[in-house]
Amino acid sequence: MKRFNLWAPWRLSYIKGLTEKHECFICHNVKNPQTDADNFVLWRTKQSVTILNRFPYNNGHLLVCPIRHVAELDELNDSELLETSRLIIACQKVLKLAINPHGFNVGMNFGRSSGAGLPAHLHIHIVPRWDGDTNFMEVCANTNVISQSLKELYQQLKETGEKNNLPSI
Ligand SMILES: [Zn+2]
Repeated sequence: MKRFNLWAPWRLSYIKGLTEKHECFICHNVKNPQTDADNFVLWRTKQSVTILNRFPYNNGHLLVCPIRHVAELDELNDSELLETSRLIIACQKVLKLAINPHGFNVGMNFGRSSGAGLPAHLHIHIVPRWDGDTNFMEVCANTNVISQSLKELYQQLKETGEKNNLPSI
């Protein structure tokens, strides 16, 4: 069976931006709560932030990040591990309520060679999936079809979380 590559050229500006600025965008967001809406910081919990990915693979792509700038899973303490795990659950609940995905990819990349855009600051990807979402446009036309603007999605997820008392950490 023929395998297809899914190219994501829009990520280049993101990766270039990181190397040019030498700034960790997660730490930047953590330090600037006054611009949470502009940075798409959805939730601040005791030891973590949950952010909408500006360069999503799919609509509703969220990042759960410990506040501490650590790269490896074994650098997290038990309460950070528990909180980030609970946030994965909360993200899935809110996304199900708000945009009704059929499934999820949840994962982490360690090191640049794994595809991590920001290997220095651990983050967990929550990517909603729908039946047939890897379609012609994405596979053949170098185009990622995102059906909703980030601002609209941010507002929708924020309201859905508030209405349903999520995240409850
Ligand atoms: Zn950082």
